Amino acid sequence: MLIVMEHDATPEQVTRVVKVIEEMGYQARPMPGAQRTSVGLVGNDGRVDGSRLEALDGVAEVIHVSKPYKQVSREWRPENTLVTIAPGVTFGGEQIPIVAGPCSVESEHQIVLAAQQVRDGGGAALRGGAFKPRSSPYAFQGLGVKGLEMLALARRETGLAIVTEALDDEGAHRVAEVADCIQIGARNMQNYSLLRTVGRIGKPVLLKRGMAATITDLLMSAEYILAEGNGQVILCERGIRSFDPSTRNLFDLTAIPLVQKLSHLPIVADPSHGTGLRDKVIPMGRAAIAAGADGLLVEVHPDPERALSDGGQSLYPDQFAKLVREARTIADAIGRSLTPAPRTTVAARG
Ligand code: PEP
Ligand code: MN
Repeated sequence: MLIVMEHDATPEQVTRVVKVIEEMGYQARPMPGAQRTSVGLVGNDGRVDGSRLEALDGVAEVIHVSKPYKQVSREWRPENTLVTIAPGVTFGGEQIPIVAGPCSVESEHQIVLAAQQVRDGGGAALRGGAFKPRSSPYAFQGLGVKGLEMLALARRETGLAIVTEALDDEGAHRVAEVADCIQIGARNMQNYSLLRTVGRIGKPVLLKRGMAATITDLLMSAEYILAEGNGQVILCERGIRSFDPSTRNLFDLTAIPLVQKLSHLPIVADPSHGTGLRDKVIPMGRAAIAAGADGLLVEVHPDPERALSDGGQSLYPDQFAKLVREARTIADAIGRSLTPAPRTTVAARG
């Protein structure tokens, strides 16, 4: 439930609403807005009788949120949420950041070279897993903490923000020490303990859609993070399982406008996992920008033939630069622009 205050409501009237919500046994989330303050009521699982709140001084309106994902819904917050992962890198606004890099961090040389290629190609942030969720326990599992250190070095060298995955609660704290944005992978989208942990850590989170998750499932998972007080969540469409083996996954582009209608959170698209096929990544990356994606997550590797994971879907650096050029033209056609690559390194910025 959302209690919308009159535009001239006093701070005392807002405080009174908060107190009454707490007396009713729920939690209150005051949300000052440009025009007026709203107070969200959370902690209920079902309809709450709002008559006591409606009668309070300064209350304009009581809105019952019809969706099960309350804080994530547009009913709760009509305007877009902007998620800033590093200075100048914001998702959900007019600018569209491109996040790119290898599937896995493999060595210092590989990740620094990849980062330079991403920046030179026009990317705004670097992706790369230090902890990898692999379908086989015998496949490369990532370099772990050493990989995180390599990502920190790549950031110092290029100024790119870092997006990297956390697999479990303990790892999430390690990842948070380095990452500008913590990625929760498709396989962990419904790991509720991990969702709560990253909610409490409070850093921006990139939440990928599960392989068999509905849009409602995705938004409910995001609600776990917001329910812990972390509103900095970026959703990601990365393809879902289908009956057709022609592509690795079925890239669900409709998810982008659907989510944007239902939620105020930004949504980005991952055409690399979405298709699993290198030559399909550029066309589907272009299509995702045209569909309104608030960012792209793309795998690019200095030497895809030798990649330790997902080489077959990783772009060559020159292909990545081409995708960025084309995405820029498409963004321009729909009144948006791409977030520029960092011009100076973090070290140089001091
Ligand atoms: C990845 O981004 O490399 C990854 C493992 O993605 P997903 O969780 O979408 O499979
Ligand atoms: Mn991958």
